[in-house]
Amino acid sequence: MAVSASFRPIISSSSSSYSYSFSSLIPSKRNFVSSALGNPISFGKLVISCSSSENGSAADPMNFSRQPQMSSMSPFGLSINESSRPSYKWQRVLLKVSGEALAGDQMQNIDPKITMAIAREVACVTRLGIEVAIVVGGGNIFRGSSWAGSSGLDRSSADCIGMLATVMNAIFLQATMESIGIPTRVQTAFRMSEVAEPYIRRRAVRHLEKGRVVIFAAGTGNPFFTTDTAAALRCAEINAEVVLKATNVDGVYDEDPRCNPDARLLETLTYHEVTSKDLSVMDMTAITLCQENNIPLVVFNLNKPGNISRAIKGERVGTLIGGT
Ligand code: UDP
Repeated sequence: MAVSASFRPIISSSSSSYSYSFSSLIPSKRNFVSSALGNPISFGKLVISCSSSENGSAADPMNFSRQPQMSSMSPFGLSINESSRPSYKWQRVLLKVSGEALAGDQMQNIDPKITMAIAREVACVTRLGIEVAIVVGGGNIFRGSSWAGSSGLDRSSADCIGMLATVMNAIFLQATMESIGIPTRVQTAFRMSEVAEPYIRRRAVRHLEKGRVVIFAAGTGNPFFTTDTAAALRCAEINAEVVLKATNVDGVYDEDPRCNPDARLLETLTYHEVTSKDLSVMDMTAITLCQENNIPLVVFNLNKPGNISRAIKGERVGTLIGGT
């Protein structure tokens, strides 16, 4: 593995407002992956160019396998001692929080107790070095499909409003997270540069590596889709290992538990079982995207204290689909 580091002034990246502690200058394995794309990695005034023959095979030269390396940075600028870091099932996760879950049982659209509970549990796991990205829904505020057709609203316009609703939730969640010291970035699928960053995949990955939580808002940026599909899509794009779908129920049941009290909670399912039995876990596009990209999916209850951090740490909770 060859590493060369040289100090030279950066000509065009003076707009960067990030600050780096010296520990962040030590290239992690993932940095080598980035540099394999031919671009030197820049750290403020330091430019490091790296090449590695150890980290990629001819078949997978860029090491795109679904196993991200853990960041050498923990949140709040503390460096994590690699040898003492406990290993968890997932190192980078995509948490999907639906709008309905954010609303709780409040008459208001968002229950601040729910957002604070999410923030606290996410804080626990980011301190362990697990990278967390979040996709938020907007159904608590506006659901395009329910409005389309009424009041002369066409589906595309209704979905635009729905996507804007997800941005509101994202900003609320970001503010809550930052109020307890979790560095958080919101990235939107369409530009709203005064309030959030635009979605830039590499930038999102970099934020995660630095221990920041990234909240993806505005879904996929396209009408006729859902934030479940956005969750599967962003998960695949940022090479997260699992989609964790936080809902108001304990997982997937063989029958509707509201109609049948004897309904059984299913611990594991295949993608095929979900689609063939038409189990309402996620919409079909999202499930198919997970299946095609071998992304496991965990459906669990957000309202049980500790469940979010358990799910993120890979402990058994809810229903696991398409995984082992
Ligand atoms: N939406 C969209 N494209 C997307 C994601 C969402 O048009 O890629 C719109 C759609 O109108 C949807 C609304 O945003 O009803 C809120 O998203 P969703 O229903 O997925 O939210 P959740 O059910 O998770 O609260």
